[in-house]
Amino acid sequence: MSVRVVARIRPLLKLELDKDTIVTAESIGRESPGSPTVVRIPNPKNNMESFSFQFNSVYDQDATQQQIFDHEVAPTIKHLFNGFDITIFAYGVTGTGKTHTMRGGKSLADRGVIPRLLSSIYRRCRKIEKDSAGATQVEVAMSYYEIYNDKVFDLFEPPEKRTASGLPIRDNNGKSVVVGLTERPCTTLKEFEQLYDQANVNRSTSATKLNAHSSRSHAILCVKVTQTTETTVRISTASAIDLAGSEDNRRTENNKERLVESSSINKSLFVLAQCVEAISKKQPRIPYRESKMTRILSLGQNNGLTLMILNLAPVRSYHLDTLSSLNFANRTKKIEVCEVENEPIFRSQSKPLAATSSITGSNIQRQPLRPIAAAHNANLHDPERK
Ligand code: ADP
Ligand code: MG
Repeated sequence: MSVRVVARIRPLLKLELDKDTIVTAESIGRESPGSPTVVRIPNPKNNMESFSFQFNSVYDQDATQQQIFDHEVAPTIKHLFNGFDITIFAYGVTGTGKTHTMRGGKSLADRGVIPRLLSSIYRRCRKIEKDSAGATQVEVAMSYYEIYNDKVFDLFEPPEKRTASGLPIRDNNGKSVVVGLTERPCTTLKEFEQLYDQANVNRSTSATKLNAHSSRSHAILCVKVTQTTETTVRISTASAIDLAGSEDNRRTENNKERLVESSSINKSLFVLAQCVEAISKKQPRIPYRESKMTRILSLGQNNGLTLMILNLAPVRSYHLDTLSSLNFANRTKKIEVCEVENEPIFRSQSKPLAATSSITGSNIQRQPLRPIAAAHNANLHDPERK
């Protein structure tokens, strides 16, 4: 099982156009400038310092839906058809672009990962059937559910049919399955879109009834691909997950219902991060059983590929939450704190930049980053410097 963690910084929204961008994408070392792998963010306690977090890839505000799909998701599709499971998570604070990344907008260019994934899967199905002259048949079926307060609800069922306790999970030959979950065969992209749109209406309707927002539940779409020949049946699943917002709800809302919600959200996201960490470190024990979400996905139990897209907002109002979600997603990787000596150094677009000393405990790194020298003089006249 392999895990890739990438970050995507969303553009400024209309209401934010007058705000500073404090979260930036950078390249390091020999990498080409066109492929950043570092997210840089100021230290909230000291603007003269900044933190940098390294990921497998980082997408800045200009990245298109097509680029995210082509670079991150399209390469996994051949593995799906070779029998591996693929899992794609969008992780981040509410308002950072998880739903935009996964579902996207209506126009062709705005379509997110999910419709593009389905479109690619159907294209490949047709190619396989054609190339094998009909000897291999491919069927696609989906289920779509949400996990809210650690309970599972079927999104293909209308909200009236929900029971308060949600659907039970049972172990079946070592795999966890949701009992009673609808699985809908779905043969064309059009059919998929109808099902998916209706299910998303179910999601928002029930969210209002439960007096919650969709940002407090995890939405999980599972696409099961079954390839059948005369002698073999091969089943693999692509799961695409729009996670609950990773912000600390306790900071702003402290009524009882919110506390229940946030503790179950925090717990499942915590377990998810632990699983991702254990998988990426190839640890023998993956704590997937400790939350329903990770248990159902059998994360780390199958051979498969996992992609975590960390969505980030570029503005200061998200500063603390952004930092905690960067820390959360990046526990496993190097985190460097860069410190500037007494004199502040700014980069050309007025962002603080710095170098050295580390916060990763034993793994202390002192590594001045390259752009500093070049940026130094150019930024002495930074208009924002008071
Ligand atoms: P989340 O699901 O994480 O709460 P949304 O996907 O709803 O966040 O995004 C919040 C807002 O930002 C929405 O209005 C969305 O259209 C916009 N947005 C997010 N990412 C982008 C992007 N890459 N390009 C343009 N608009 C975006
Ligand atoms: Mg959302």
